[in-house]
Amino acid sequence: ATFASLGLSPALQRAARELGFEAPTPVQAAAIPAALAGHDVLASAETGSGKTAAFAFPLLQQVESRNARAAAGAARAPQVLVLVPTRELAAQAGALLRAAARCLSVSVKVSILYGGVSINPQLMALRGGADIVVATPGRLLDVVEHNGLTLADLRCLVLDEADRLLDAGFAEELQRVLGLLPTQRQHLLFSATFPASVQALSDTLLRDPVRVTL
Ligand code: AMP
Repeated sequence: ATFASLGLSPALQRAARELGFEAPTPVQAAAIPAALAGHDVLASAETGSGKTAAFAFPLLQQVESRNARAAAGAARAPQVLVLVPTRELAAQAGALLRAAARCLSVSVKVSILYGGVSINPQLMALRGGADIVVATPGRLLDVVEHNGLTLADLRCLVLDEADRLLDAGFAEELQRVLGLLPTQRQHLLFSATFPASVQALSDTLLRDPVRVTL
């Protein structure tokens, strides 16, 4: 497969090239077409598999085509939320999304939210709106409580490293986040392992998912 044959736009093919990605990894080859088609995806994928680009590229393509039709200059509420268990993963996924977004012809804003640092710069950065939010659950809830963003326009939820999201003691925070989201949405769930807790989460959230197991 090539990034073109998976259905990615020329701009995202260029982004892949600029990132030094010559060909899709197996998880990318399986997940990208399914995500572009709007399906829920349940993927068994470890760090190092290329899972970040497997959700980042199709989501950027969806946001790009929506923003191309939106009113210029209007502050935008997030369309995509990427939940991650750690600050490191938030920084990594956010960096890849921002690097790829720079190749697009329309502006796509990526906000990165994690705890352990002052909330004020994060709130400030959200003032101009955001299209994609990458966040740890606890800090996301803090930001919502500060009225830093609304999740009412969300169309897609990514759970990255879902097993760690559930075992890091985030299960309750995760449920609170889910309660804030509109019901009509796409889900992409990535996990290295599938204990009963992850299975139960995917059973309740995902609708007829495309399963990616490698
Ligand atoms: P991840 O599994 O998303 O943490 O990615 C692991 C590493 O693989 C990261 O350093 C990526 O930049 C790199 N990577 C992801 N996709 C590709 C690809 N298609 N070709 C080469 N490297 C890749």
